[in-house]
Amino acid sequence: MLTTLYNPMRMVADRIAAYYVSHPDLLENLLVRLGAQNVKHRWGHSIECTCPLHGGDNPRGFTLYYDRGNPVWRCFTDTCGKGGLSWLLMKKYPSAGYDQAVVSLGRFCGITVDGSVMHVTKKAIDEETLEVVKRRLGIVTANRQQSIMRFPEEMVVSSVKDLYSPAAAEYLRYLTSPASERIGSGLKCRQIPLHILQQFQIGFVPRMRWVWWNPQEKKDIGWFDDRISFPWRYVDGTLMGFAGRHTMNVDHQKYKTLNGTGRALMLWGLGDRKCLAEIQRTGVVHLVEGYTDVMRGHEHGCHNIAAVGGTELTPEQIKLLMQVGVRCAVTYLDGDGPGRNASESIGRQLFNRIRVMEAVPPADKDPGELTDYREFWTPIVQAKPFTPSRSLR
Ligand SMILES: [Zn+2]
Repeated sequence: MLTTLYNPMRMVADRIAAYYVSHPDLLENLLVRLGAQNVKHRWGHSIECTCPLHGGDNPRGFTLYYDRGNPVWRCFTDTCGKGGLSWLLMKKYPSAGYDQAVVSLGRFCGITVDGSVMHVTKKAIDEETLEVVKRRLGIVTANRQQSIMRFPEEMVVSSVKDLYSPAAAEYLRYLTSPASERIGSGLKCRQIPLHILQQFQIGFVPRMRWVWWNPQEKKDIGWFDDRISFPWRYVDGTLMGFAGRHTMNVDHQKYKTLNGTGRALMLWGLGDRKCLAEIQRTGVVHLVEGYTDVMRGHEHGCHNIAAVGGTELTPEQIKLLMQVGVRCAVTYLDGDGPGRNASESIGRQLFNRIRVMEAVPPADKDPGELTDYREFWTPIVQAKPFTPSRSLR
């Protein structure tokens, strides 16, 4: 299938730039091709290298970063200036006009442009994406930072679309129907409003949609087959992976995390813009256990809320909370035994650094189950200062 887009050259250029952004390896290749050295990707953030325009040997003399999703470069060591990708090519090859620069940019990443018509094979884009995913899935390194990657936005777009397809009807019912109802496998429905699902880009991944090569079995095997997908975003919005939840076979690996997802570096919910804005306004964060808890908070107007996804915080998560300006944490973990223990251990991790308040939901309830506004807020209003007196159960 050939997608033909007839557009003024600038729109073509934007489209190509977006393609580069979703394929960071191509951006690195482009810089190398233009003569940059020491190309280093600070994942999801920027690329640093020597300046491909004036040369030079400062490995941090040139930066390419993302400004609201657009790649922007800047030379710090000479007078090369700054600009977008097309401008970079025009500076490098002064005889090239704008159109020619865009055509070359396209050619470098496999997109053919003739005149102001761009031909992109849908298949080529899909395969490239899959290729990136496969490669990353195979990477296992001792250094946790190195195995973290930036995932292509296409994965969010397609999974969100699939949640509203007929094949996912039961999953959508599980997520949105009243808490008094149950789905076929016996699970209680979650009663999450549609607009909240959309805000967090919750999706669905059908069988064999995301696959990778398994050398033992010598075939593509599925990942996330038939799962609800929760995108993980860093505080700057970078897509850093996915968690997927089964609802049918409830005992077998309820949650899976896509390899390469930087879970230990993030708290789910902090990537939401409303969340960050509210933390910066108030200095307060509410720490809950899981995805539903975060979404319930947003439904009830509690935006400064993030999920720890475990019983302890990692050093990176603590550092991040400090960096975004948290001065007080309200722990609001599940009402059951494990939830109480998590509340104690997280409280102990934080109380020497910042103020910690402890909110306790009604016995054996999760904040995510509190569909009633007043029921959700009452434990927060009644939260008490944390004191590490209790022993762990
Ligand atoms: Zn320069």
